[in-house]
Amino acid sequence: MENIVSPLPLQQQLQALGRLQEVDLKIEHLKKLKLGHPAQNKERADRLSKLQSGVAAQSQIVATLEKQDRETRAGQELNQDRLTRAAAKLESVADGHQYQAATKELEQLRKVEVVLAGQFLRFSGEFKTASEELAKRSSEFEKLQAECTAKSAELTAEIAKIDQQMAELDQQRQPFATQIEKRIVTQYDRVRGARAGLGAVYATGGRCSGCNMAVPPQLYIQLQKALELLPCPSCMRIFLGASDAKSSS
Ligand SMILES: [Zn+2]
Repeated sequence: MENIVSPLPLQQQLQALGRLQEVDLKIEHLKKLKLGHPAQNKERADRLSKLQSGVAAQSQIVATLEKQDRETRAGQELNQDRLTRAAAKLESVADGHQYQAATKELEQLRKVEVVLAGQFLRFSGEFKTASEELAKRSSEFEKLQAECTAKSAELTAEIAKIDQQMAELDQQRQPFATQIEKRIVTQYDRVRGARAGLGAVYATGGRCSGCNMAVPPQLYIQLQKALELLPCPSCMRIFLGASDAKSSS
């Protein structure tokens, strides 16, 4: 369809270009919507990864405290055994010298018992606090993880919808595109690429509606005749016509 043997009159081509641009602007809007989504997704993924590191670090702390807790308890049990044995020995001593030695050992073991009990109290307190913090962090992580999964499904559906709309718009633009000579479409594409999506404009009230520069009177007269393709001398956008030409069409 690209080889138009005898092109349509320019005025009709420009009308088609105007319609084509309406569709293109909708497509541009959808493209921007689509591009905006991954940014939100990335922000959430970054937060999730930070929470995950937090959970891992806290798990390490809890594991260390748990080990200390366990070791202290083992130490307490060992000391308890020694105390039992020392107490039994004290009852079976034969002389004063042995009695003194056994009493001293018992005293020593009791001192150790007090120290270990203090340690146990401290470690188990720290362990409890750290475990609570771990539970809190894990729950935050799981909550965000569930949110990410839900959002990801939502996003996939939304992007599929956008793609569908874009495909429909692409269909809509075809009939207009085939009515326009390739050289005009090429020029329009080049200008809209450089000019934020707007490649063709009307001259309204003697001014370019794209850049608002005054259109020289001679050019304005040429525009109203609509016999040749004329760009705005200032912004290079293709003129679709003068505003009065637009209202009469
Ligand atoms: Zn202009």
